[in-house]
Amino acid sequence: MGKIYDTIIIGGGAAGLMAAVECKRLGQEILVIERNPRPGKKLVITGKGRCNITNFNHDLRALISKYQHNGKFLYGAFSRFTVADTINYFENILHIKTKVERGKRVFPKSNNAVDIIYALIENISEDILPNTSVLSFKMDGKEIVSAVTYKGEFRAKRFILATGGKSYPITGSNGDGYSLAQSVGHTIVEPKPALVPIICKERWIKKIEGLSLLNVNIGVFQKEKLLTERFGEALFTHEGMSGPIIIDISRQIGDALERGEVQLSIDFKPALSKEVLDKRVRADFHKYRLKAFKNSLKDLLPSSIIPIFVELSKIDKEKKVAEICKEERERLVNLLKDFRLSVLKLEDWDKAIVTAGGIDIKEIEPTTMKSKLIDNLYFAGEMIDVYGPTGGYNLQICWSTGILAARSYENE
Ligand SMILES: Cc1cc2nc3c(=O)[nH]c(=O)nc-3n(C[C@H](O)[C@H](O)[C@H](O)COP(=O)(O)OP(=O)(O)OC[C@H]3O[C@@H](n4cnc5c(N)ncnc54)[C@H](O)[C@@H]3O)c2cc1C
Repeated sequence: MGKIYDTIIIGGGAAGLMAAVECKRLGQEILVIERNPRPGKKLVITGKGRCNITNFNHDLRALISKYQHNGKFLYGAFSRFTVADTINYFENILHIKTKVERGKRVFPKSNNAVDIIYALIENISEDILPNTSVLSFKMDGKEIVSAVTYKGEFRAKRFILATGGKSYPITGSNGDGYSLAQSVGHTIVEPKPALVPIICKERWIKKIEGLSLLNVNIGVFQKEKLLTERFGEALFTHEGMSGPIIIDISRQIGDALERGEVQLSIDFKPALSKEVLDKRVRADFHKYRLKAFKNSLKDLLPSSIIPIFVELSKIDKEKKVAEICKEERERLVNLLKDFRLSVLKLEDWDKAIVTAGGIDIKEIEPTTMKSKLIDNLYFAGEMIDVYGPTGGYNLQICWSTGILAARSYENE
């Protein structure tokens, strides 16, 4: 009979590596089984290569409220391994100096995600089995006996499943961890792309690809009912929109699309009421009264979008500004306050930052991350049915659940 490890961790991403580091620190004999040649392939690309480790949000309630879907489940993990504990762990155990940036985003001082991986694997590199996928489990009643791979079976007293979601499958997380969990009886809430750009019906969008909008308000409408709205930054892509606002409301847009048509309404001037904006437009029209309409909007809008506005306003682009009538001006003001786009669909898994859905939280003990169905199975990271907005919130799930799964062994 082969060796029996204390803990086998399946998946060497953020959650699996954190769990492994902590298991090792606690004296457990571990093995990390990772399908890629090297662990942490997704971690390298986080935060545009800088890794936004967490969000400097120390109020537990406020923190949890950011996770709109199943946030309460995280109370167990976030209260036992807090944001402060996370920063402390990075600074004092992993020796990564951190800094806080705009939006309370915490980054390594070095601005280099690779440093995070090196720090995480420093003491466990000998315990990682790369280029190996776990294909199935061998069971004995309600216990997993071994993880089966093409390289043989690996036995352990317990197993931590940290195989991630389905997003960015090129990094190794193709969702097959769900099948592993399902094979031992767990329920999978249908995984869907989240934090993902959208594709719009309007073909002219490609003309303004790359245009970013600052300080706009975007509302999501279905049958003229406002579903949600956000203020901040957005960006036009080749086929649709991306940027912080869109990414953060993308799952809500996706859910609404399953029910019917969805429109976005961009308010280009959210700080101004319609009346005040109308005054402002009148002032501009006075200033440019001798110009053609197409040359009168540069104080109001970024230049690349002006031709689109001119066309959608249905005002003759060559018309002298002085000749524009009140109705036409009102049409322009309406466009500035309520610029409509029709959403076609969300982008696919290859562009989704995280996965909505995953292992049903009802089947996981929130204070230990232990499976309620299998006696020696634990979960960590993105594969659990919970996700947060951008800003470091998703990695915090990985750190807290990874640590909790690691420490739960001691408590048994
Ligand atoms: C472009 C991008 C940028 C991001 N930036 C940030 C950010 O700055 N801050 C933030 O908080 N979040 C960010 N996220 C989200 C965050 O990266 C993820 O939520 C997090 O990395 C998930 O970690 P995980 O360990 O759960 O899963 P993963 O990192 O996906 O790791 C799972 C690992 O399991 C392995 N695996 C899968 N199946 C098997 C198997 N059967 N056998 C063996 N191994 C297997 C995979 O190869 C993979 O290495 C970003 C995501 C993306 C895509």
